[in-house]
Amino acid sequence: MTAPAPTHLLGNLYALQVPIPYPMGAVTVLLDVPAGGPVTMIDTALDTPEAHAALEDGLAALGLHWPDIDRVIITHHHPDHYGLAGLVEERSGASVYLLDVEIGRGERYWHLWEEWLPGHVKHLRDHGLPPASLLSLEAESRRSRQRVHPASRVFPLREGQEVALSGEPWEVLWLPGHADGHLGLWNEAQGTLIAGDAILPRISPNVGLYAYTRPDPLGDYLQTLGKLEALNPARAVVGHHGPVMTGVQARARELRAHHHERLDFLGAQAAQAPGTAYALSLAMFPRDLNISGRRFALAETLAHLEHLRLLGGLYRTWQEEAGAWVYHA
Ligand SMILES: [Zn+2]
Ligand SMILES: [Zn+2]
Repeated sequence: MTAPAPTHLLGNLYALQVPIPYPMGAVTVLLDVPAGGPVTMIDTALDTPEAHAALEDGLAALGLHWPDIDRVIITHHHPDHYGLAGLVEERSGASVYLLDVEIGRGERYWHLWEEWLPGHVKHLRDHGLPPASLLSLEAESRRSRQRVHPASRVFPLREGQEVALSGEPWEVLWLPGHADGHLGLWNEAQGTLIAGDAILPRISPNVGLYAYTRPDPLGDYLQTLGKLEALNPARAVVGHHGPVMTGVQARARELRAHHHERLDFLGAQAAQAPGTAYALSLAMFPRDLNISGRRFALAETLAHLEHLRLLGGLYRTWQEEAGAWVYHA
């Protein structure tokens, strides 16, 4: 199968749709190829043979080879964006960049994985994930880890800093929620935001509370949506279902309303029938989900419950018999 030709976005900036073995089907990888350099890749996809081939086709279509890449900027550390960072680094000698806040997350996740796993398992168990799902968790995390080729060294970008793409200044934004250190790049003159997964057109970006994350990812995300609404980009280059979406302001409002509905639902549900985050996730996501879908549902439910708890709207109590936290009014 031949990959679709790169989409021209603006200046010397092009978007590739690179296949990933997730329901979204593809991730957006950007290539900026200004005449005098430097060549920049933004996000990298997962380490799979299909992604390799699509990236090589995309580079060839732009008259490039791996060694031409000078730097790699990653929007956030999730495997579908960060996966091939180390391979690109190896093949090109490019410097890899993440937002400063995200570097520690990526390091713990990808370099200290053996140490990371027990905390991840305990976190989900403490919130009621059943033993059968815990069993498959390690194998699945291991598979996901195998598709990531971490960079040997990652350099920091900081909020407010300027990065040149296509010879124009882009401001580094911090857009936490979907990931603690999610980065955006904003070109005010062009009204264009490189948004990664901070906002998506067809799905609500997963906002989950995981082990080792900031305490209130939903609170972070609601602020990010406010930031995007105020910024009001004419268009955003998005990680999935893209490469480009318009109507960012309206979508940000829609997503905020969606999360407020879920907060109302969970507040009422926990008052009426106290339960673990897992039990409450079955009420919030009643449809049939596979084991990994159920874990996303649990983390998302937990982010909402903790947001309510930190605002004083709910409480949680450790239940010795269940070996888990129970949320109640
Ligand atoms: Zn993501
Ligand atoms: Zn993604």
